[in-house]
Amino acid sequence: MDIFDKHQALAQRRGQLLGTGADPFDLEIEALHGPCEATIRGRRTILVGTNNYLGLTFDPDCIEAGCEALRRFGTGTTGSRIANGTYAAHRALEAEIAAFMGRARAIVFTTGYQANLATISALAGAKDIVFVDSDWHASIFDGCRLSGATVVRFRHNDPEDLDRRLERNPNPDGCRLIVVEGLYSMLGDVARLREIVAVKKRHGAFLLVDEAHSMGVFGDKGRGVAEAQGVETEVDFIVGTFSKSLGAIGGFAVSDHPRFDLLRVAARPYMFTASPGPATIATVRAALAKIAAHPELRARIWDNARRLHAGLTALGFALAAPPGPILSIRLPDERTTVFAWNRLLELGVYVNLALPPGTPGGVCLLRGSVSAAHTTEQIDRVLDRFARLAEELGRFAASVAAA
Ligand code: PMP
Repeated sequence: MDIFDKHQALAQRRGQLLGTGADPFDLEIEALHGPCEATIRGRRTILVGTNNYLGLTFDPDCIEAGCEALRRFGTGTTGSRIANGTYAAHRALEAEIAAFMGRARAIVFTTGYQANLATISALAGAKDIVFVDSDWHASIFDGCRLSGATVVRFRHNDPEDLDRRLERNPNPDGCRLIVVEGLYSMLGDVARLREIVAVKKRHGAFLLVDEAHSMGVFGDKGRGVAEAQGVETEVDFIVGTFSKSLGAIGGFAVSDHPRFDLLRVAARPYMFTASPGPATIATVRAALAKIAAHPELRARIWDNARRLHAGLTALGFALAAPPGPILSIRLPDERTTVFAWNRLLELGVYVNLALPPGTPGGVCLLRGSVSAAHTTEQIDRVLDRFARLAEELGRFAASVAAA
């Protein structure tokens, strides 16, 4: 037996996709021309699938801050936060994130994935129950597994179902932690946090919200969906990432809980990995200052989201959610979706290809995301390419039916 035999089903599935002419999981970006355009397969391409919501990856102040930190503090910390990997800048960033999010305490992690892994696995223990939305991100799933807690899934964005499950699982010998996302990364729908908070209070549970896709975009101050829905004080823990609106890499968790800092000695994904490098920390600090000082960035991403959403809807595409930073289009099946994704690339537009089992409810999606840095001209060019795709999809469906 070969050690890779267990992945045979994956290999077959990948082989099927490769047979369509492109390897969607091995796409190379050959050159970048700012936050929203790149060269892919030798072609100038508009990027509409990057999570670069505020377009800060090429911000001159962020770049300068990163270069300066590289020169002064070197290329990496070469150690974990609990050894030699905590510099003054890590602490300063934690204070700045706490202030930005309006919380007493913040902890910085090396990635957003690890922020969930660390926070969930340290908050929940073997005697606890974690109630998770069934459209959970892999980092939430893995955090639950690492925690050893019992996991109860509730129907996607369904507070009534959550209520029933809490009712059935009182857990007098342990705690109960609810984990949801502010903005769901696949469909782009927003959590019903007001109702979820009401359920949480009724049952005396704790609530963690992952604002990975919503921080910087939702709320008057850009703190996320909890801010936008006016329920921040009822959310016990917020997790976020630096890899989307902040244009870098890393993650954080914030809380007002007086014992929150215990995570630093309880969370293995915090303790046993090297801390984020100086350049990363410096760019994140600059980006955070930028989003605090420039609310017009948020206004721009919402304008772009509305324009793209309206245009795609007018072309007859089925959008999975109302306008927002994530614009996912439902297509009828995998063949059509892969065809559409390939054609868009040939037409100079990059979106994400999202297929089961990575999607909720087995849906096939072209997952687009807008940026504050998209110009109106770029959005209109994208819509022009989608108009061509819409015509071709009609012909594609007819040819499949005839075959
Ligand atoms: N949470 C959610 C909801 C995400 O979508 C992601 C990444 N796509 C993460 C956490 C992990 O963040 P990162 O990629 O920064 O590690």
